[in-house]
Amino acid sequence: MLMKRNLEWADERVAQDPDYFRRLMEIQRPRYLWIGCSDSRVPANVIAGLEPGEVFVHRNVANLLHPGDLNGLSVIQYAVEDLQVQQIIVCGHYGCGGVSAALDGRRHGLLDHWLQPIRDTAEHSAEELEKIADGQQRLQRLCELNVMDQVKRVAETPMVKDAWSRGQPLEVHGLIYALSDGHLRNLGCSQPAEHSG
Ligand code: ZN
Repeated sequence: MLMKRNLEWADERVAQDPDYFRRLMEIQRPRYLWIGCSDSRVPANVIAGLEPGEVFVHRNVANLLHPGDLNGLSVIQYAVEDLQVQQIIVCGHYGCGGVSAALDGRRHGLLDHWLQPIRDTAEHSAEELEKIADGQQRLQRLCELNVMDQVKRVAETPMVKDAWSRGQPLEVHGLIYALSDGHLRNLGCSQPAEHSG
């Protein structure tokens, strides 16, 4: 199934643009690094309307960056220092299973360790969250707060700080995707702060 679809896709591309793959082979210079959720409904290229070659992608459960995450940190270093991306997008989504799992009170094995930053966020924002009476709405807000916290974490990495002190143009943005209408929304938590909104 996968192999057949791949062949059809590749044939279609060449039919539309005979030089398509030759051009892509020559250079990778994406403008964006996307840090998103692994959720199958939130594919970076598709929802952002970007072609292959336009976005460097890192995805994990609930779009998190742990301080000791060698994978995520290496991706950031490569994207910032080698690819020289201009924007890092942390993108969460409403209805995130990882965010709900962090707070559902059940045991999920190793995933419970992975999701700890979300419980930390929920704890720091307990006052705000407790004011939201509806449980679903509270989870949606937590999806947003999680993105905002991860933007801060990305902005605090040495690679990003070094880029800024070199004067390299680089912005970190927090977006959230709604499965219900396919729209991305800017959470206004960009770094440096003057690029917010
Ligand atoms: Zn998710």
